[in-house]
Amino acid sequence: MDDKAMLYEGKAKKLFKTDDSSVIRVEYLDQATALNGARKDSVAGKGSLNNQITSLIFEALKQKGIQNHFIKKLSKHEQFIETLEMIPLEVVIRNVSAGSFANRLGMKEGEPLAFPVLEFYYKDDLLDDPIINDDHVKILQIGTEQEILTIKQEAHKINLALIDLFGKIDIQLIDFKLEFGKRADGTILLADEITPDTCRLWDKETNDHLDKDVYRRNLGEIVPVYQEVLDRLEKAFH
Ligand code: 5GP
Repeated sequence: MDDKAMLYEGKAKKLFKTDDSSVIRVEYLDQATALNGARKDSVAGKGSLNNQITSLIFEALKQKGIQNHFIKKLSKHEQFIETLEMIPLEVVIRNVSAGSFANRLGMKEGEPLAFPVLEFYYKDDLLDDPIINDDHVKILQIGTEQEILTIKQEAHKINLALIDLFGKIDIQLIDFKLEFGKRADGTILLADEITPDTCRLWDKETNDHLDKDVYRRNLGEIVPVYQEVLDRLEKAFH
């Protein structure tokens, strides 16, 4: 497939048209970025690890009744997904204080939260993805009251499913980011990816970081860490 068919090039993946307009081919890239792309490194093997991890998780979510855009894994670094109109929101759920939440609110990292905290960020590189509230979502015409409710309910369901899934492989789900898309009929579906790039995953025993914070915070090599997450998932769910 040539580059004329490329629909989108992101920081971690490229999207290509296929012969079927309802299906997109995704290629996961061997690239790590931080600080909204200001820091960028080539990391051999990362793309295929993330593709395998997110394929496994989206499949497991489907089995738990959570519909999503995933169709099938094509190769180690490629998958087919359903074409959706993406909603420009990053939906973050936090179970434990960490990252920007801990910094913004002056909390210690690692403090369990009394209930899962949901946040919206407006996906806009030029604005640096600002945190926004429900009213902002409505004013920007990103979503209606009903759509906001659907997204929140779905995100909380996904949180419970992911806590269970990662719990089985001795990983604590600290926080994560989701993205949703819309079918032509208005149905809202989970989309994008769920990988160590988009979640904070701490080993239950040691609290070691098994996620992109290893790269963001210069804690070591990410490939062995992502491989560890994939190995644990495959052992438990294949
Ligand atoms: P924080 O707001 O603390 O930086 O991130 C909260 C959670 O959402 C983390 O698990 C982080 O990986 C994820 N997240 C937030 N924004 C982004 C983003 O733009 N890209 C990626 N890959 N993950 C994000």
